This record gives sequence, structure tokens and C-alpha cells, in this order.
Amino acid sequence: MAVDDRLRTVDEHLATVLDGVGTLEPIELTLLDAQGLLLAENVSTDFPLPSFDNSAMDGYAVRAVDTLDASREQPVRLQVVGDIAAGASSRSGMGPGLAMRIMTGAPIPSGADAVIPLEDTDRGMARVEIHRPVQSGECLRRAGEDLTAGSPALAAGAALGPQQLALLAAIGRDRVVVRPRPRVIILSTGSELIEVGHRPGFGEVIDSNSYMIAAAAKDAGADARRIGIVPDDHTKLLDALENQLLRADILVTSGGVSMGAYDVVKEALSEIGTVDFMRVAMQPGKPQGFGHLGNGIPIFCLPGNPVSSLVSFEAFVRPAIRKLLGKRSLHRATVQATALESAKSPHGVRQYRRGVLHRESAGGYSVSFIGGPGSHLIASLALSNCLVVIDEDVTEVTAGKPVTVMPLLLSNR
Ligand code: AMP
Ligand code: MG
Repeated sequence: MAVDDRLRTVDEHLATVLDGVGTLEPIELTLLDAQGLLLAENVSTDFPLPSFDNSAMDGYAVRAVDTLDASREQPVRLQVVGDIAAGASSRSGMGPGLAMRIMTGAPIPSGADAVIPLEDTDRGMARVEIHRPVQSGECLRRAGEDLTAGSPALAAGAALGPQQLALLAAIGRDRVVVRPRPRVIILSTGSELIEVGHRPGFGEVIDSNSYMIAAAAKDAGADARRIGIVPDDHTKLLDALENQLLRADILVTSGGVSMGAYDVVKEALSEIGTVDFMRVAMQPGKPQGFGHLGNGIPIFCLPGNPVSSLVSFEAFVRPAIRKLLGKRSLHRATVQATALESAKSPHGVRQYRRGVLHRESAGGYSVSFIGGPGSHLIASLALSNCLVVIDEDVTEVTAGKPVTVMPLLLSNR
């Protein structure tokens, strides 16, 4: 059996996990499907942005030289020879002493070299009074002033948020090559588990882990799918996993990895020899399984208690998903917060306590613990908004002193 009896540190196990996670082939997606992903190509524009000289204001296109002597008292009068709306496609021209009404974004007629805003005129229809001189180039947006034709727009590695998607659309790209979302398949094991929507009978437990892990995986950027419950049965477990191999970039199971007689995940997968089960010096989340199935698909076998499952996901699975996404920062940001209570923590173990993080009105953060030691307490888990991370060498947290807190903020992708 591939069981490693030595206690590993969280960092050692994380290093093993990240080593065991490769990269995914880039794929082409439409813009909104690419939101939140990293670009996997260098993108340049083959036309200038803006693509034509246009007006920055609603006003009149004029020749600056015609307005040199204009003032409110002695306006210059120009004949208005046309109207140019945004979207106008004619390349109309304009001679000396003439003006054209022009809307924001409309093309500048040839012959004009400036726009006088409406508010500096009498807004005339047939003739317009200009109330001040205009500089050549005033209120013009020049073709190519944003990007010239052929110039780079976005480099490979750029994260595609609303601003970047706007640029891609503006330069005419409706599809881009990106690092794909890892497909994460989530499976709950345990013969006591039943599907949500049923009232549990005696001894039955509703499967909540698969919803929690699927939501957490989705929040981490994955394309997450739960495939439900598998009982504590070797054959059924191996069949269920086998069926998913072609659809998965990562497999995540929960339950069945402790020392119990029915901890089938550990028994069944240890036999295959490509998944290792080990104990990690963390609390909760000591029993962990990690390895590969099929054609090198990483599989995480997390402990079944909901709090242990979530902490294990945060410690190992989330960084792995981020690595597959190509993200540079794999870890959640942490903040220092003042502990509102004291607590003891075992030496040599990294403890993750559920917490409620508050932002202090005077600045900074404070944190209180919630939920006690039980890893089965889902109601208090639902009230928490962070994990307090108590390092291996810290045995005591003192009220009033700073602690490291990992806020579990939703990314909303
Ligand atoms: P295990 O890790 O299989 O020994 O399970 C530990 C505890 O977590 C048991 O009380 C299980 O009933 C519970 N548990 C396991 N899987 C789930 C799940 N998917 N949803 C909710 N509780 C679970
Ligand atoms: Mg179980």
C-alpha cells in the first residue's frame, strides 16, 4: 500500500501537489467565455484605434484659422453646410468660412482641423456664431492615438477582465486563445450520504461537501461539476472515477480517507498504486490523499468532515486550480488582524481556525474565533468569513496580538 506514515508539513504536501499538476493546452474562446482567464497569445491590432479622426465633442467642425478673431462680443459667423452624426460614412469636405455640425465620435470632414463645442457657439442651424478662437486640433481624437495599426494590444499572460475584453472587442477580436478553466469533477463518498432534497432517515447524512467543494472550485476559477454520491464500495468507487477520467482535469473526492474500516477511498486507491495517502501536520485535515489516475489526471482525496474538507481544499486544491489556470499568484492574500480572544494551538501543527473578520472603523482588522474544535460544525462554518492560520511554531494566540488571517472572499470570477 502506498501509505506514507511520516507526518508531512503543509508546505511539503503543497509542494508535492503543485509538482504533480501540469498545464492545460490553450483553447480558443469567445470574449465573454474568456472572462477571468489568462490570454495565451500575443494580440496586436491590424487597424488603428481610433480608426479615423473624429470629434471629441458635440459642436461644429471648423478651420481653426477662420476663428482667430472670434470673441463673445464680436463673434465670427460661419455658414453651416451640413450635419455629421456618429456613424456617418461619407468623407465630406469643407472649405474656408464654412462649418459643419458634428456629433461626438463622428468623422471630421476633410478641410476641418478642429471642433468648437456647442457651448462656445450660439448653436445656430444655417449660420453659427463662434464665441472664441479654436486651436488647430482642439476637440479632435486622432486616428491611431490609442493604438497604431500593427501595434501590440495585449500580451500573453494578461488577465482578461472587463477592460481587456473591451480592448479586444474594439480591435475586432471576437475570439481569443486562453488558458482554459480546469474541469474539476467532485465526488462524495460515504454509504451514509443521501442527496439533498430528501429528509434524512436515522443514520443518514445529506451530502453537503460536494456543493461546498464545487462552489469553492468554481470560485477558484474552475469549471466545476459534482457527480454526486458513491457508497463505500471498492468497485463502485473505481467505476465512478473511471467514468469521469475523460471529462476531468482534476478529480476531488471527499470522505473515506481516515483509518476506519470503511474508509474505502484509501483502501481502493492505495491498491492502484498511483495515489498516496499520508498524514499532514495540519488541523483539521490531517488525512490526505493525492496522486494521479488514468492518463495523469491529478486526484485529491479530502477528508469527509465538512470543515476538514474546506480547509483541505483551501490548502491544496485551490492553489492547484490556480496553477492550471496559469495564475502567477496561487495563494489567497492574507491580512494581519488583532485576535479578539486567546487560543492554544498544538506545536508542530498548522492550525486553521474558522473566524469572523471585522474591519475596524479606526482602520485595520480584528478577528474572533467561531465554531470550536469540531470539524462537523456546518452552521458555524457558514457564519465564518475567514480562516485564522496559526503556524506550526506558534502554540498560543493572545488576545490583543496580531494573527494571520486568510479572508475567504468570493472572487465572483
Ligand atoms: P469520513 O471522512 O468518510 O470518515 O467522514 C467523516 C465525517 O464526515 C462523517 O461524519 C461523515 O458522515 C461526514 N461526511 C462525509 N462526507 C460528507 C459529505 N459529502 N457531506 C457531509 N458530510 C460528510
Ligand atoms: Mg466515510
